[in-house]
Amino acid sequence: HRPFDAGSVKRDFPILQQQVHGKPLIWLDNAATTQKPQAVIDRLSHFYEYENSNIHRAAHTLAARATDAYESAREKVRRFLNAGSTKDIVFVRGTTEAINLVAQAWGRRNVKAGDEIVITWLEHHANIVPWQMLCAEVGARLRVAPVDDTGQVILEEYEKLLSPRTRIVSITQVSNALGTVVPVREMTAMAKRHGATVLVDGAQSVSHMPTDVQAIGCDFFVFSGHKVFGPTGIGVVYGRPDVLAHMPPWQGGGNMIADVTFEKTVYQGPPERFEAGTGNIADAVGLGAAIDYVEAIGMPVIAAYEHELLVYATETMLAVPGLKLIGTAKEKASVLSFVLDGCRTQDVGVALDREGIAVRAGHHCAQPILRRFGLETTVRPSLAFYNTREDVDALVTALQRIQSGRGYRLG
Ligand code: PMP
Repeated sequence: HRPFDAGSVKRDFPILQQQVHGKPLIWLDNAATTQKPQAVIDRLSHFYEYENSNIHRAAHTLAARATDAYESAREKVRRFLNAGSTKDIVFVRGTTEAINLVAQAWGRRNVKAGDEIVITWLEHHANIVPWQMLCAEVGARLRVAPVDDTGQVILEEYEKLLSPRTRIVSITQVSNALGTVVPVREMTAMAKRHGATVLVDGAQSVSHMPTDVQAIGCDFFVFSGHKVFGPTGIGVVYGRPDVLAHMPPWQGGGNMIADVTFEKTVYQGPPERFEAGTGNIADAVGLGAAIDYVEAIGMPVIAAYEHELLVYATETMLAVPGLKLIGTAKEKASVLSFVLDGCRTQDVGVALDREGIAVRAGHHCAQPILRRFGLETTVRPSLAFYNTREDVDALVTALQRIQSGRGYRLG
């Protein structure tokens, strides 16, 4: 591992070298998507310049190169998640498609009328709507574990929801709206005591902390490549081998079959059974390069650095008059959602953009949790390992200026 220095790491990201409105770009919208290091951009170009081919089928040199690149990316994902086998790793389009795949393929077979699905108040719409659709289809019921005023799941209330009717618990590891780190390992163990299957949404966690799906003990773990410095349009479902073995396919077509006649089709085993059609080969390879990049720094190094930066950002932001942080759980990652007294979130977002600072201002595709705090929107800066104390200082200075400018206008 090379010694960590956020300032020098930032230079690996060409997009971060530009100016916006005449100011150096400060990217604090990492919870929405992350930027790509040169190594990922180069890997994508290399694929299209030297390796591009469809995989598995044709028997020629480029097909072999593309297949090797794709399958070695699968091995990188396996290692990154500490899964037991590459057969446990299914490539999909992203977290949204991953959860829909599980809700449809696993859910339709295993969830019946009267059964219950448990989620939390923290979930992104992608981990709410697919389950509502399944519930409507099969007559099951969605139960929601509440959070306390800091934005942490209340474990006693969660436990009360678990029963022999609970078929699946589907929970985020980190809240994209509040940054809460949810105790997924403990919650998985509790669900297992009731015989439930568990899905963990890792969209917001994989870029900030080491992941070990076997230590969590979940049946499914899903994430998006674009949130971990890889390309858009590629994501992953990890499935426990005994669960995937009994899961029917979702989409039918090429690649996922062993044999087809008009009378009967025999499916492939996992993971091919769940990868119908030509997949996103290049972007899977790009994701492999992104994993190589973060692993060269080291996820524990990234987690420790970001924790320190989050503590610094929390302290300095709280010094801005009238700023209220939404989400104050003891364990948080990356996200600093806030409202500013007397300012509309949209206006704060626009004012920050004029300073070259990119943040999200809106509902963050997580309306229920914001409404839990009596809000429709927040301003949401979110950190990654390429952010520095100088980035945080620039944000705080801009917020102070926005706040005092407002005072001046009102005065
Ligand atoms: N879950 C969480 C916690 C997320 O933050 C996101 C993205 N904001 C998603 C799911 C959906 O991911 P994608 O849009 O990449 O499918």
